[in-house]
Amino acid sequence: MFSLSKSAYIKGDQCIKALYLEKRRPFLRDRISARQLAVFSRGTNVGILARDCYPGGLDMSPKSPKMFGKMITETIKNINNPNVNVLYEAVFKYDDTLIMLDIMVRDGDRWKAIEVKSSSALSNTYYKDAALQYYVLNGCGIQLSDFQLMYINSEYTRHDDIDLTQLFKCQSVLNDIKTYQEEIRNNIQKFKTALNMSHSPAIPIGVQCHEPYICDFRGHCWKNVPKDSYLFMTAMNEEILFEEYNNGICTNEDFIRHNSLDNIQLKQIEALNNNTYYINKVSFLKMSGNTTGKIAYLSMMDYNKAVPENEGEHPYQPTFDAFCILYEDDEKTVYHFWEKTEETNKEAYKILADSIKDFDKVVFFTHNADVFHQIPNEDLPEIIDLHSVLIKADFFHKKIRLHFTLKNVYEGVKPGNSINEHESMILNNSDKFFIKECLRKEAEAIKEIFNEWQE
Ligand code: SF4
Repeated sequence: MFSLSKSAYIKGDQCIKALYLEKRRPFLRDRISARQLAVFSRGTNVGILARDCYPGGLDMSPKSPKMFGKMITETIKNINNPNVNVLYEAVFKYDDTLIMLDIMVRDGDRWKAIEVKSSSALSNTYYKDAALQYYVLNGCGIQLSDFQLMYINSEYTRHDDIDLTQLFKCQSVLNDIKTYQEEIRNNIQKFKTALNMSHSPAIPIGVQCHEPYICDFRGHCWKNVPKDSYLFMTAMNEEILFEEYNNGICTNEDFIRHNSLDNIQLKQIEALNNNTYYINKVSFLKMSGNTTGKIAYLSMMDYNKAVPENEGEHPYQPTFDAFCILYEDDEKTVYHFWEKTEETNKEAYKILADSIKDFDKVVFFTHNADVFHQIPNEDLPEIIDLHSVLIKADFFHKKIRLHFTLKNVYEGVKPGNSINEHESMILNNSDKFFIKECLRKEAEAIKEIFNEWQE
């Protein structure tokens, strides 16, 4: 008999086949990306910090999977011990479902359950996840006074030390999650039945393959999808795409025959058929401007930090730890690297502003549209964000179907060339040489992409 964890339940709720494969055929899982690893590590750090809102608790985290049974017993022992008031990662099991609750706080003769989220907004998935935990706690006979989701308050401004009471917001979800209980009971039953089958459930590919999370088994389930399939289009409602595909419309030719497509949709199919990209060059040139003057190509190790590091900063304010500026001087390519040591973010932005002020134009690629908002406008040359220019110029390549990243754009525009995933810098942040290399290659990629369509 398999036991379900919270993440397995969430997976099953997204797609029961994904749950089956996870438990019964884990070797079919895709390689985990740097992007996913970066998200996991962010969640863990915020969870640990949130414990300080309720200090002095006992940590019930099992040191290894073998320890779960022991920690379930320990948790119940501590729940029944009147001298224990706070527990972290309390472990419970009911109906073959295992959960770990971030924080539990004694509240009179009952307990307040708290689940910590590193986001600044609450999604439907978080409610479902809390509802599952409530189901297990209720089944174990734990009397709850409340169930709260604790998440990041994006309006918080740091002054002196971090004020945890301001950094986190709490939302009581007890009444909402009670309404999910019947659905959870039925789902668990359905999942257990599926897991005992000798073959995986016959689920066709669909929107669930990347909503709400990108499934780890796409490599397996999508293996028969042609590499140039219309399913990779971005200019069409994907529910229609999957409906057509699952109704047996397998080729691009058949898809065109069955649907009346607009110009952009036809251009995307053409790009897929020719294994190339599409871009509206006129729009691109209009937005990117000309190439006269002194141009800097800027790559940054930028990210949004959940917890503000310095005075006056907000959660998820864009920041950076290093940058590389590439430019041509006397027909020679020059690289200017900078990395943060002791500087505050404000000082780092000042250094960046000073480093680019003598250029006429700075070209960069970021998902942090606000990254330059920390620098007064009058101190800036013309800034071209390649990411937003490419989107507006209808850039399309099948690689950008799931992630419109510099790596995917570059590999689409310059087949055979590649760079690391941007997030690999965050994961290897102590390896200075690695970061420098990543930044150098990103700056070169930005330059090549920007100049690809210049006349
Ligand atoms: S790739 Fe799609 S169909 Fe396959 S398991 Fe994942 S979500 Fe389900």
